[in-house]
Amino acid sequence: MRINHHPSDETLARFAAGTLSAGPALVVSVHLEGCPVCRDRLGRFEAVGGAMLDDMPPAPLAADLFGRTMERLAIAQPSPARRPFTRRQSALGFELPKAMRDCEIGPWRWLGPGFRWSKVRIAGSPDAKVMLLKGRAGLHLPAHGHSGREFMQILSGSLSDERGRYVPGDLDEADDDVDHRPVVGREADCICLAALEGDTRLHGLLGRLLRPLVGF
Ligand SMILES: [Zn+2]
Repeated sequence: MRINHHPSDETLARFAAGTLSAGPALVVSVHLEGCPVCRDRLGRFEAVGGAMLDDMPPAPLAADLFGRTMERLAIAQPSPARRPFTRRQSALGFELPKAMRDCEIGPWRWLGPGFRWSKVRIAGSPDAKVMLLKGRAGLHLPAHGHSGREFMQILSGSLSDERGRYVPGDLDEADDDVDHRPVVGREADCICLAALEGDTRLHGLLGRLLRPLVGF
């Protein structure tokens, strides 16, 4: 299926620079796996970043550079020796993207009628706010807004809202300006990988459902 929704320039630039936090970086990694257009865009951002570094005078490394680098490596190069979730893939009902091979994925839990979630833990970043969401075909999700940014990659099925239709491979970035009421496509259940940036709080019904469950 054709990919129509991509990460913003700002997000890709931050991913290239290693300053995107672990949760959103995982969502972007999954998108990059399936999107040659964005792999090409990322290559250009990395070239620009490299050229800027070459021009800069030597400076002491930021104190957390090592941690951030390790965080990215943990996502980019999952250890081949550790694949705890292969067994669970059939239980999840879809094939995990390579970028998620080293993630710990919890069981599906009830979130609302026709709506389930599963906690995703990223190796080395236990506090990252990442989850899989699964909505039943045809489900109308409660309207909600955001404070902070939410990243969502469609893995299977489809989702539509006022801004368009999202199919597998599409990545949606929703920020403060987006107040939406998503509807799951009637053809199949929809599973997506969602990450919240930093201090994101969800408003409305979805937020009230999620907050006590996942501590966001
Ligand atoms: Zn893309």
